[in-house]
Amino acid sequence: MSRQTPPSAWSKRSLAAQALGHVEPVTKAVVQPIHLATTYIRDPDNQYSSGFVYGRPDNATVREAEGVLAMLEEAEAGALLFGSGMAAATAVFAALDPGDHVVAPTVMYWALRRWLAEEATRWGLRVDFVATDDLPALKAAMRPGETKLVWLETPSNPLWTVTDIAAAAEIAHAAGARLAVDSTVASPVVTRPLALGADVVMHAATKVLNGHSDVIAGALAGARADAFWTRIQRVRASQGAILGPFEAYLLLRGMRTLHLRIAAQMAGAAALARRLSEHPEVAGVLYPGLPGHPGHAVAARQMEGGFGTMLSIRVKGGESAAIAAAARVALWKRATSLGGVESLIEHRASVEGPGTPCPPDLLRLSVGIEDPDDLYADLDRSLGAGR
Ligand SMILES: *Cc1c(COP(=O)(O)O)cnc(C)c1O
Repeated sequence: MSRQTPPSAWSKRSLAAQALGHVEPVTKAVVQPIHLATTYIRDPDNQYSSGFVYGRPDNATVREAEGVLAMLEEAEAGALLFGSGMAAATAVFAALDPGDHVVAPTVMYWALRRWLAEEATRWGLRVDFVATDDLPALKAAMRPGETKLVWLETPSNPLWTVTDIAAAAEIAHAAGARLAVDSTVASPVVTRPLALGADVVMHAATKVLNGHSDVIAGALAGARADAFWTRIQRVRASQGAILGPFEAYLLLRGMRTLHLRIAAQMAGAAALARRLSEHPEVAGVLYPGLPGHPGHAVAARQMEGGFGTMLSIRVKGGESAAIAAAARVALWKRATSLGGVESLIEHRASVEGPGTPCPPDLLRLSVGIEDPDDLYADLDRSLGAGR
């Protein structure tokens, strides 16, 4: 592969569209081959001059995709791909030491919250959950010298709670802790956590980064190639939490259209949020782009070009009416996950189970690239069928 550094004047959109513009040197192909080798030739002088030793974790296709993500996140340390979003997130916690104190949000991706509460604690991490959008509460949760990591998710599932990343970074750093941000929902196009002071940014690349609901993948990007980042690299390599080359290739292809997809999805989400706010069967719309959303002012500062592709609605008739409306959709697909080109609807409390902060009348909407008028008409019919 030819790896000339592209002119820095080109925008991220241009660089992503061409997957950094790398050309395969033998055939001059504009698309990189998928590298499948699990092992590489050692040089006669006993070195590995290529930098590739063994397929766990050395793979050129994976590194291509990591290069695009590092560019998008402006990550000096680069990016690391993992076998899933959960593998990426848990690698950050696995790089801590037993006894370390961690602060995480009350409203966050449910599976990671459960893992922190039930598994991470078994390995000696001390975990406190706090409403991270409440900055005085976040500050009060810090134990200087003991708190080693603050984990944020913004906007966070499924209420789209917005946390001020720059302010949280100041609070974390003042107490001697690092800040990691799950930026899955915002995407690198909309929010730049590292530029706002975060040390690590995490993505469920399964979602909007890939965008086609056909890859499970996770990613981290690091602000600095420091000792903590090196430990995360070691955790990935030794625990084998790697992504396969086929998945890395699909993710690379998905990221080439990220800017176009997310612009269309955000425009659709904003239009739906506005129209659903006036719907007679809707008690409330949760979307950071609406002026009435509690996180709107912070979102307007730290999100660029839009307010994301996710919204939730509270259905007037309560839980049973919400489940019934989701049962009637035709164009929307009744499924979990988010960020893909097809729009998904989900009764979220059914997924999260007992103890969830998710209200029972809430439907979570992941807006795809379909015609927003069709999406609205399908929802209107499904919500109104009881009238
Ligand atoms: C899906 C998701 C994850 C987990 O990613 P997987 O690829 O499913 O392991 C983590 N955080 C957020 C915000 C997610 O939406």
